[in-house]
Amino acid sequence: IAEKTSGIEKSVWVEFNQLALEVKPLNLGPGFPDFAAPDTVRKALAKACTNDTNFLLNQYTRSFGHPRLIAALSKLYSKLIGREINQQTEVLVTAGAYEALFVTIMGLVNKGDEVIIIEPFYECYMPQVKLAGGTPVFVPLRPRKTTGVTSSEDWVLDTEELANAFSDKTKAIIVNTPNNPLGKVFKYEELMMIAGLCKKHNVIAIMDEVYEWMFYTGQEHIRMATLPDMWERTVTIGSAGKTFSVTGWKTGWAFGPAHLMKGPQVIHQHSVYTCTTPVQEAVAEGFEIELQRFGTPECYFKSLPAELEVKRDNFVKILSDSGLNAIIPEGGYFILADVSDIISKINIGGSPNERKDFRFVKWLSRNRKLQGIPPSAFYSPEHGHMGENYIRFCFIKEDENLEKAGEILRALK
Ligand code: PMP
Ligand code: GLN
Repeated sequence: IAEKTSGIEKSVWVEFNQLALEVKPLNLGPGFPDFAAPDTVRKALAKACTNDTNFLLNQYTRSFGHPRLIAALSKLYSKLIGREINQQTEVLVTAGAYEALFVTIMGLVNKGDEVIIIEPFYECYMPQVKLAGGTPVFVPLRPRKTTGVTSSEDWVLDTEELANAFSDKTKAIIVNTPNNPLGKVFKYEELMMIAGLCKKHNVIAIMDEVYEWMFYTGQEHIRMATLPDMWERTVTIGSAGKTFSVTGWKTGWAFGPAHLMKGPQVIHQHSVYTCTTPVQEAVAEGFEIELQRFGTPECYFKSLPAELEVKRDNFVKILSDSGLNAIIPEGGYFILADVSDIISKINIGGSPNERKDFRFVKWLSRNRKLQGIPPSAFYSPEHGHMGENYIRFCFIKEDENLEKAGEILRALK
């Protein structure tokens, strides 16, 4: 086994998906819907694979993205970013946002470079930075309020702490907005503050925006690439899995200026080479349909978050009826609930070397058949305690399943 794998052996997804397979709990763990994806993309995929005139839709396509999909992506994002995006040189289609993150980091980070990661962060950022030979530097969002009703809005960066994390070795900063697991949607001022530091220190912003359409009343998703002089230094990452509720399709993308996309393209062409053709064709058709009804309530980019907002509000109530305080998310489809009271009342077992939230999530899955995800997985070892009192639940689930979770949690009161 190669030395580079040492210290990054664990993956929260692998571990907890395995547990779910064994225990078969009500699974509010990983982020995927338990209801049907939109007909538009499902039918488009069936059509693409069974097309009796264009057999080539089942064969390899262009390495950096299927022509119809890069056309759709550049049309959409040119509109959203307010500049013409070159579909040949500025867009790359990948095997999920996961691969987009990987090739971006591998293609841009040199050995010895520092990469700032805002905590809590999507779990793969840290191992990916390490695989690239970089050094992760962590800066946590800190709660400015811990009692009463709290919202993800109450979790903020300390400007000075962030500024101090930049050094002459800093190559990039990774920001996830809307954030998984917290649900924080970064505000204009917060992004401007980060952008200012990127410009001052000549740093690249790697923006994980996979939940770009999932933000709730009063919120707005601001794209770093639209801020003054930030296009030149920003790579933005998205996911068809999240956008169209088809996480099993593992199709994502990265876009940014050609000089930043070159490295990621090189890594992609020598590893994955090209992504699944019929899936790219179907995602392209999905985008074309949404582009036609863009801005209307029927557009999936509006109808899905509208549906999710109702689920969020119901689930916050379900949690509070169970005696759990939740951090109300402004975006995304996860919610953090404070389970410290429950944990203090029961014997969750497990090894004391393991964090309490990991032990509790396992206990809950095995003994009450309800699964979540332990939030300390989204922190560096030194800041893991900041997530330890919580459990993450995914709420893009059928209402009856959210109700069932409530019954299980109420019984623990
Ligand atoms: N980034 C974040 C913040 C995520 O939550 C996920 C998982 N959905 C990904 C990246 C990976 O996305 P994909 O499933 O498209 O690889
Ligand atoms: N991104 C999803 C989450 O955060 C699922 C990740 C996975 O299963 N790899 O839950």
